[in-house]
Amino acid sequence: MAHIAFIGLGNMGGPMAANLVKAAHKVIAFDLVEASRKQAKSDGAAIADSAAGAVKGADVVITMLPAGKHVLSVWNDVLPAITRGALIIDCSTIDVESAKQAHGLAARHGVAAVDAPVSGGTGGAKGATLTFMCGGEETAFAAAKPVLQNMGKKIVHCGGAGAGQAAKICNNMILGISMIAVSEAFALAEKLGLSHQALFDVASTSSGQCWSLTSYCPVPGPVPASPANNDYKPGFASALMLKDLTLAQDAAKATGAATPLGKHAQELYRAFDAAGNGGVDFSGIIQHVRGLAGSE
Ligand code: NAD
Repeated sequence: MAHIAFIGLGNMGGPMAANLVKAAHKVIAFDLVEASRKQAKSDGAAIADSAAGAVKGADVVITMLPAGKHVLSVWNDVLPAITRGALIIDCSTIDVESAKQAHGLAARHGVAAVDAPVSGGTGGAKGATLTFMCGGEETAFAAAKPVLQNMGKKIVHCGGAGAGQAAKICNNMILGISMIAVSEAFALAEKLGLSHQALFDVASTSSGQCWSLTSYCPVPGPVPASPANNDYKPGFASALMLKDLTLAQDAAKATGAATPLGKHAQELYRAFDAAGNGGVDFSGIIQHVRGLAGSE
């Protein structure tokens, strides 16, 4: 049993902290929002009155926050209060540069650090089936792995500081682009009089096969569990896809990488989001693609 501080108890962090309690760890939690603190308390965590208060005496500190600025602010706040030799893990999705800065801050305080963003969404957070993409030194990863295994199924060491965030944004850039590609194919099939099922039956067993088609099909019918069958309720909200595509574009600019389709995917999700669809599942982009008919 470890003594774990958990900061950031939102849609993801709340159920992740609950799974650590279920795994018999001592969990001290904190969030700015009272309702999240109350939920964590009813899930069995002890509640601290501040982030710095939560980390006192902890072996492991975990943060699950919206963006890089929140992570740097909380890490600046808590690191002086963390026991030297302890471990800090950030599971938020943030920009690679902030992740590297966070590692530097931890090193200055003698605290081992891992960036460990996740894939799997709120369902994976509840079911403890998340994939963790980790960046940091081998010894820090080895210490983080048994803790992360209480919240996820697949724990991958991607490389040094920031490598987890790099893997996350590259993966989600593929996801955003491939969802638009699949949506365009269905929109063209509709114009050609080809049924959804016929396109699915061919493409799902041919060279067009991909996760966006076979696990998350953007039209209702072929994949019964996909959000298209549930009025495009997330799932994975378009606002979060736009966030990740923007992180990918920021990284591409910073490194000089060419990502023309990633840029176009960001523009399409930005337009979808601006039309009030940020809370719609990201597979709902097919509605936007259909709406572009005649304009391109
Ligand atoms: P959320 O907005 O539901 O939760 C974030 C929580 O952080 C909130 O409860 C907020 O009050 C808290 N917080 C903010 N600043 C704080 C501070 N200074 N001290 C303490 N608490 C603070 O977001 P979420 O959906 O849980 O996502 C968290 C992270 O996980 C994000 O980086 C997101 O991109 C990533 N992510 C989300 C999903 C998803 O499906 N929701 C999937 C993969 C990755």
